[in-house]
Amino acid sequence: MGYKVRLGMIGGGSDSLIGVVHRIAAGMGDNFSLVGGAFSINFEDTKAFAEKLELDASRIYKNIGDFIAGETKLPEEVRVQVVTVATPNFLHYSMAKSLLQAGFHVICEKPVTTTSEEAEELEEIVNEKGLVFAVTHTYTGYPMVRQMKWMIAQGKLGSVQKIDAQYYQGWINPVIHDRAERKKVWRLDPAKAGKSCCMGDIGVHAFNMVEYTTGLQVRKVLADLNMMYDDNQLDIDGSTLVRLDNGAKGLIRASQIATAEENSLQIAVYGDKGGLRWEQENPNYLYFLQEGQPMQVLKPGNSYTSDFEKSSVKLPAGHPEGIFDAMGNIYNGVASAIRGEEYFDGAFPTIREGVRGMKFIEAVLVSHAQDNTWVTID
Ligand code: NAD
Repeated sequence: MGYKVRLGMIGGGSDSLIGVVHRIAAGMGDNFSLVGGAFSINFEDTKAFAEKLELDASRIYKNIGDFIAGETKLPEEVRVQVVTVATPNFLHYSMAKSLLQAGFHVICEKPVTTTSEEAEELEEIVNEKGLVFAVTHTYTGYPMVRQMKWMIAQGKLGSVQKIDAQYYQGWINPVIHDRAERKKVWRLDPAKAGKSCCMGDIGVHAFNMVEYTTGLQVRKVLADLNMMYDDNQLDIDGSTLVRLDNGAKGLIRASQIATAEENSLQIAVYGDKGGLRWEQENPNYLYFLQEGQPMQVLKPGNSYTSDFEKSSVKLPAGHPEGIFDAMGNIYNGVASAIRGEEYFDGAFPTIREGVRGMKFIEAVLVSHAQDNTWVTID
């Protein structure tokens, strides 16, 4: 079958934001070979881009239907094995479902669907068919986030008692105050984005970081969202109080109108023995706080880090890691899963994390709609 996993891609064309991250990530471990896809809504763009990537024209398709029909006709040892879905949100569910039903493993962008029922349906198909399904909560791929997860599991913080996750961006601020401009943004269009903009787009990453690093689950939320203008249907900012299943309390806050913020994702977890704080814009530093001690700054690839962290680092200590590396680590985990190799728990977010994310988004929306009351997530 060959060593490299054969990868296809739907969406993520040259006109997209996230496509390049997936392509570079797929190459980072020498584990994948991109063989074809339907990269753009516009077929001419897809063909031109495929030519630039020097892909075989016979593996380039007009749409997902043609992709599935064309690939499933090929012999198994040639056919694409796993498909990345990097289209706008409303397309994830139908695309992922048809790919799974045709027997492909899937790497899907977040939010995984537009409802939790759809995500649960995908989970059922994944389990029935024994396929690999990754949801690209990219930040889980950072070495120091993995170190954080490991340290919390090892009890280095004691019992978790407070969490604070923040994802602040400012890019909607220059758009939202102009009616014509805000109508052009697909993330603000319920038909394309789903039920939520800010919480679905980035709040869900902050939520995922809480559950990923602590191993705990968010059980209750009380949310206050901001749509800002009457004709704008989707949230562009929100603050959520949360309660975890161990009784710990905290906050998940997200904004796309935090003026001039870029990509300020931060997570802090405090236990009765200590705390850990990580900031995406400075991803090589993990701040370790302990009662009565000077703060320690932990860095990737050192002798004191976990095997999971070390497995996520490619170069000697001191070489900065970034979003491509983080996504690359997720891809590497997926390759191991497809090949049936061993991999660390947490090597890639699964459809379970996708379901949890959708439940969080829905609970936040219900809480806001019910005059900011507590809503339970099962
Ligand atoms: P985008 O609008 O920049 O790009 C979307 C791409 O999908 C384009 O290439 C477009 O031509 C293509 N496309 C649209 N409809 C298609 C169809 N029917 N068939 C084939 N291709 C089609 O969007 P984006 O910002 O790249 O976001 C895409 C997805 O990635 C979203 O779900 C978003 O939430 C997610 N995303 C995730 C992260 C992350 O950190 N993991 C970051 C950014 C975006």
